[in-house]
Amino acid sequence: MDINQIRQLYLDHFTEHGHQIIDRAPLVLNDDATTLFTGSGMQPLLPYLLGADHPAGDRLVDVQPCLRSQDIEEVGDNRHTTFFEMLGNWSLGGYFKDEQIRFAWDFLVNKVGLDPARMYVSVYSGDQSLEISPDDESAQVWHELFSAAGVSTDRIDLVTEERGNAEGSGGARICGYRDKNWWSRGGGPETMPVGDPGGPDTEIFYYFPQVEHDKSYGEHPHPNSDGGQYLEIGNSVFMQFQRTENGLSPLPRRNVDFGGGLERIAAAAIDSPDVYRVGTLAPIVSRIEELSGRAYDDDTEAMRVIADHVRGAVFLIADGVRPSGKEHGYVLRRLLRRAIRFAHAIECFDGTLESVADAAIDAYAAAYPTLDAARTEILGVLAKEERQFRRTLGKGLRELRRLGKESRPLSGADLFTLYERFGFPVELAAEEANRLGVDLLAGWRADFDTAMERQRQMSRASSTLGT
Ligand code: ATP
Ligand code: MG
Ligand code: MG
Ligand code: MG
Repeated sequence: MDINQIRQLYLDHFTEHGHQIIDRAPLVLNDDATTLFTGSGMQPLLPYLLGADHPAGDRLVDVQPCLRSQDIEEVGDNRHTTFFEMLGNWSLGGYFKDEQIRFAWDFLVNKVGLDPARMYVSVYSGDQSLEISPDDESAQVWHELFSAAGVSTDRIDLVTEERGNAEGSGGARICGYRDKNWWSRGGGPETMPVGDPGGPDTEIFYYFPQVEHDKSYGEHPHPNSDGGQYLEIGNSVFMQFQRTENGLSPLPRRNVDFGGGLERIAAAAIDSPDVYRVGTLAPIVSRIEELSGRAYDDDTEAMRVIADHVRGAVFLIADGVRPSGKEHGYVLRRLLRRAIRFAHAIECFDGTLESVADAAIDAYAAAYPTLDAARTEILGVLAKEERQFRRTLGKGLRELRRLGKESRPLSGADLFTLYERFGFPVELAAEEANRLGVDLLAGWRADFDTAMERQRQMSRASSTLGT
């Protein structure tokens, strides 16, 4: 089953169960000061999860494009992309654990066709010191579903984060209890702010026996170890507590918040541990293969970075962001310049961004018609950014190599020069230094920020003088 079909199937599945489809939020959330971009389907719905009535009712569903710039360094692995689509469904004071777990199972197993024998789940282990009991209610529903599917539940209840799943490797289905399975705005139950809601969550992983376990993540493979064999495909948060001065008390209106990674579910559906093989990403990767004349299997990391960053940039530009030196625009610039840097490494030269973006827009045109409508505008922004950075990229890289030969650690001031003269975003310059094996002086980031601030003040002063 294809990613576009799965997206539609999800919406259909939940409308059949009485949910209203709500409009997705833009990638830039103007009224949220805590973060630059929409990073989950839940984020724009927070006021309703905190108690306000939603105009569309108490059962909601959507597909939310997300951008997590915090995941940028993870891009290159088989599962993290800065941009992705999140499937979301919510119950505001209506159904709770039992129905939610069954809805999710029914969708994943009966509609998408995932193999229940390759699904792993985890539930909250409770906290004795805070008198919170383990989430046996969720575990019970999972037991029932796995048993009914004919999947052995022998090893259920065995796993905790600490013990790993040595007993369960090789495809055993496990319902693990973990103390990390808790959601609130402020971390675990002991650190959430007074007045805030929170509660346990239950996570779903898909197992890929064809992936070799990477021991650098721990001796034994574990669903949450990031070792590559298990892919987190979704989690349901059950908001059932509120923090008070005296600990936790039951929330009068309990909510469900489900978030599922569309690309990851689509990858599981085609039995690929690599999300870049799904229908929306594969054509983008193919375009990069054509442009470079190289194979994805040989230059996997570079092609993943380029595909991801250009796709994210396309969505950001369509949502009104333009490259600039600060905030949203800076993240966009950073994505584009990083993509160009990686393109340079695999000998994709002028016009790469436009060509890759063209493929990305084609891949998403049916599901997101606004991208197609904005095609000329998007390609124009990309072409301009690429022209600017290409002019100085080679010189900047040479300068970095020259500095590297001085056999001294680089300072924040060096990185500022690279930024000012060659347009290198500081994170990219640091990454390059790292690649060259050149050390950075302790406190380089603060020194860079100081240099940047000084420059801002000077340009502010000169523009005031000029008027
Ligand atoms: P992970 O542990 O893999 O980083 P997460 O726990 O941070 O994921 P959630 O905040 O629970 O992710 O988001 C809900 C779902 O969105 C995840 O279960 C996953 O399927 C998907 N998802 C999260 N981050 C990414 C990403 N960077 N790229 C693709 N899909 C993602
Ligand atoms: Mg994450
Ligand atoms: Mg996770
Ligand atoms: Mg999660």
